[in-house]
Amino acid sequence: MGLSDIRARLDKACAEAGRRPDEVQLIAVSKVQPQERVQAVLEEGHRLFGENRVQEAAGKWPAFKAAFPDVSVHLIGPLQSNKARQAFDLFDAIHSVDRPKLVQTLARLAQETGFCPDLFLQVNTGEEPQKAGVLPQDADALVAECRALDLPLKGLMCIPPVDEAPALHFALLARIAARNGLDGLSMGMSGDFEQAVAFGATHVRVGSAIFGARVAG
Ligand SMILES: *Cc1c(COP(=O)(O)O)cnc(C)c1O
Repeated sequence: MGLSDIRARLDKACAEAGRRPDEVQLIAVSKVQPQERVQAVLEEGHRLFGENRVQEAAGKWPAFKAAFPDVSVHLIGPLQSNKARQAFDLFDAIHSVDRPKLVQTLARLAQETGFCPDLFLQVNTGEEPQKAGVLPQDADALVAECRALDLPLKGLMCIPPVDEAPALHFALLARIAARNGLDGLSMGMSGDFEQAVAFGATHVRVGSAIFGARVAG
């Protein structure tokens, strides 16, 4: 395990899928990891990271960005509308857009600030009541709403149910993206990123396999 192992496995998965390695971005998910582990991965040259909480990212990334100015951080966890402005300052992409109210807030901020992070719509492919994400049958309408508001929508994201084969969910997400003419697919985590690559992932979100198990607390 570790960055170089995961990089090698990702390159191999791309080769097996007949895809170029630069078609898939590796997001190193640094949530809850000790600073030293994040620092070590930065020093190995990795520059793309994922965080799932705005507050945690705000405490952690400004200092790292001062030291490593070319770093990108993506928000992969839920976003409340009242944290959207803060998210604009911190993140280069938001993977968790999932409802009209948030879309409208982001559009207003984009208008005010003159820029907007890249956006991904999170789709609740397993239709799990406790999970964030737009339902598959409502995804096309939310895509249309983003486009009507001129937002930089890059693709879709999903987190498959823990107890189901992820392949079905990756395939469903890819179908919804294709019928909407979207290229970006944020899918695949430590346990299933190679499979996600086979289904067309453009962004895999890998945490524990790079950094080690998350320390509780
Ligand atoms: C934590 C997290 C990941 C990474 O999970 P690992 O199993 O540690 O690779 C990926 N995506 C999201 C949305 C996460 O919250």
